[in-house]
Amino acid sequence: MVSAGADGRRPGCALVTGGSRGIGAATAATLAAEGWPVGIVCRDSAAEAGRVAEAIAGDGGEANVIVADIADPATPDRIFAELEDRWGSVAVLVNNAGITADGLAPRMTDERWSSVLSTNLSGAFRMTRRALGPMMRARWGRVVNVGSIVGRRANPGQANYAAAKAGLEAMARTVAAEVGRRGITVNTVAPGLIATRLTENGVGAGLAEAIPARRPGTPQEVAACIGFLASERASYVNGTTITVDGGLTA
Ligand code: NDP
Repeated sequence: MVSAGADGRRPGCALVTGGSRGIGAATAATLAAEGWPVGIVCRDSAAEAGRVAEAIAGDGGEANVIVADIADPATPDRIFAELEDRWGSVAVLVNNAGITADGLAPRMTDERWSSVLSTNLSGAFRMTRRALGPMMRARWGRVVNVGSIVGRRANPGQANYAAAKAGLEAMARTVAAEVGRRGITVNTVAPGLIATRLTENGVGAGLAEAIPARRPGTPQEVAACIGFLASERASYVNGTTITVDGGLTA
């Protein structure tokens, strides 16, 4: 049993995929503020990720940027080796990296289907699989997936994205049941419309009217929920999904 520090936090670091901007960047900052050294993964936006890491360092935290494609099956071993070398272990994994490649189902190409499934779902599964061995040995760990309300509610044009996000929730439930007795929790946060680059080109436009909060959410509002699930305080929350959507699906 790895003993906790005075603040209840375990040794090791947190890892946030897609931490260069949006929800991932806010999550990296939130976890760093909780005292975790943070590994930030991105594929193309290393400069942006560097600025996130600099901001964390400026606030007295620690962060390390790793450039990797989450859809590549070789990625998890490389990322974990680097972080384990530097900080000993990965105690918190946030599977946040995600893309969209929209199209109505009758015309959805195999390429669009596969790119979304391999980044948003298979990539998250491989990262989770790699994380669990050391977490089981430490008898403590936190995995948080970033799903979407689209995993539960139709959004025409997003059959690939919806399937991936529903898959993340189902995966989290099953893995949670497998590893719950080892002090590991696996949960999903399902955001609604959040103001990030993913949605700046009109995705979800007009939706604000339908949101009881009458506005899109901020990345920080999602990160706050992820931070809770990653903490000791959420030790009895396992295998579930928390929706962060301003009441949209209430
Ligand atoms: P952004 O587009 O702002 O950020 C996406 C992040 O994922 C970037 O850091 C990007 O880095 C990274 N990324 C994408 N593909 C890969 C890859 N193959 N390998 C490594 N990193 C990758 O999106 P958001 O912050 O809006 O979204 C974050 C998560 O939240 C996603 O899973 C999204 O589906 C989910 N979500 C977002 C909602 C919203 O309204 N914004 C609503 C519901 C869910 P790079 O550019 O370098 O590849």
